[in-house]
Formats: sequence, structure tokens, C-alpha cells
Amino acid sequence: MKVTIDKYSGFCFGVVYAIEMAEAELSKTGKLYCLGDIVHNNMEVDRLNDMGLEIINHQQLGELKDCKVLIRAHGEPPETYHTAIKNNIQLLDASCPVVLKLQNNIKEGYEEINKIDGQIIIFGKEGHAEVQGLLGQTDGKAIIVASTDDLDKVDFSAPIYMYSQTTKSPKAFADLQEEIRKRKEKAGNSEFVKFIVNDTLCRQVSGREPQLKEFAKENDVVVFVSGKKSSNGKMLFQSCLKENPNSYFVSEEKEIKEEWFNPNSQVGICGATSTPRWLMENVAKNILQLKAV
Ligand code: SF4
Repeated sequence: MKVTIDKYSGFCFGVVYAIEMAEAELSKTGKLYCLGDIVHNNMEVDRLNDMGLEIINHQQLGELKDCKVLIRAHGEPPETYHTAIKNNIQLLDASCPVVLKLQNNIKEGYEEINKIDGQIIIFGKEGHAEVQGLLGQTDGKAIIVASTDDLDKVDFSAPIYMYSQTTKSPKAFADLQEEIRKRKEKAGNSEFVKFIVNDTLCRQVSGREPQLKEFAKENDVVVFVSGKKSSNGKMLFQSCLKENPNSYFVSEEKEIKEEWFNPNSQVGICGATSTPRWLMENVAKNILQLKAV
């Protein structure tokens, strides 16, 4: 059996930046709060917990005072910064530069579209941390669209500026745009009413999809390693599965099943932008120790 780890899988630069910032602080003080899971991977969160990182939620942030809190790569809405100032909390801001740029674009778009009575649409998952940060740029007024079912909330006779959560699939984003165009046409005024699409997908994720599809085709069995809460993990795994039906999703090595493999299998291990390399290496080691192998 041959086991290969995809060299392009693993942390994106946004996650690397946040983890390095946390590690630098923890090595100096041994204590740091982080607002929400620093990365959607329980194994990596556990590793950082052992170093002194404590994950808190927004309610706990409101109760803290005079301490340091890390903002993770997903970014935060303006209220979080207001709370920090009020409670004398020093923020270590590891918001990903790609997310910060998107927040800024949406803020500008919101100011502009307010003057023409239009709407901001964000293609994303309701309640997702990054989406909350984006929604905050519009005073909570943007319409979150997770699928075409949510399009009933949109007024197609009014102007629309469209954006996307950074980790959505390019195909799903294109399909949604198409559906909006159709509905605008049906509303009968598509030529005169603005519909501006801002492609705000992160290339660290969308760039991985085609490469990952090739990787999935090259191997007999694919083991995709990711936290269950990772949006890009779910999306990239589906891409693998489409190319190779022998693709399996695991969050840690103990979920591996012997029956997936045979001694002649060529096995590919890959993962999301939140999957640590050490975890993919553990999975590889465990597969090579299986009895059937
Ligand atoms: S996936 Fe892209 S936007 Fe999200 S943290 Fe990584 S680099 Fe930043």
C-alpha cells in the first residue's frame, strides 16, 4: 500500500497567522482568551488549550475585563471592538486580511446602496462566525442567503449588491447569481435596476478545489481529514467524493475503518484549510499500521 499526503492541503495563511499569534503570546504568558474556536478543528484546539488558550463566547467577552483576547481569522463585527474598548480588553486581532478586505467592501457597498434603496445579499451560512462579522458591517441589514430557498426574502425590483462568505463553492456562487438574474428578469426591470456581483471567494479555498479533484482521481482511496464544523472542509470533501466514490471523511485517526483499504490500495490523505499537517501525518501512520495492510 502506498500512502501520500496532499502537499497543498492544510492550513491557509489566515489560519497560520492566527495560530502563530496565539503561540507567541502563550509562550510568553501561558494564558490567552480566544473568541470562538481558533480553528474549526477540535484536535488543534485541544493542543492549544493545553498551552493555555481558553475559548470564550461573546457573552463571556462581555463579562471579562483587563485582559487579552485573540480575534480569530473569521473576523468580528464592530460590536466586539466596542465591547473590548468598554471593558479595557486588549485585542490581538488575527482577522484574516482577506476577510478584513471583504468586511470593508461590504461596508462601502452598504453605504452606497442605502442611497438607492437597494439590498445587500451575502451568500453564506446564517450564524457562521465570518458571516456575523460581515452582517455587522451593514447594521444587521444584509440578507443572508444560504440557498435559493432564501431568495424569497429578496425584492427583485430593487437594486442588489451581492457578496459571498469566503469559503463557499464557486459553482454554488455562480448558480445563485444565475437564479437571481432569472428572477430579476421575471420582475421585468432587469435592464434598469442595478445588480452588482462581487466575487469575494477566497482563492486559498477555491484554488484548492481543482487541484484536490486531480488528487482524488489519482488515488484509489481518499481519506479527507477535517473538523466537522469546517465549511471549506465540507465543501472540499464533496468535491473529492464526486471524483472518487471511495472518499471518506474523518476528524481523527480513530475514525479510520480497516475495510476501506486493501493491501494494493493507493491512498491519498488530504484536508481542509483548517486541518493541521500533524493530524494528516497521524492518520497516515495509523493507516500504515492497520492489520489488513
Ligand atoms: S480560507 Fe481564505 S479567507 Fe479564510 S482564513 Fe484562510 S486565507 Fe483567510
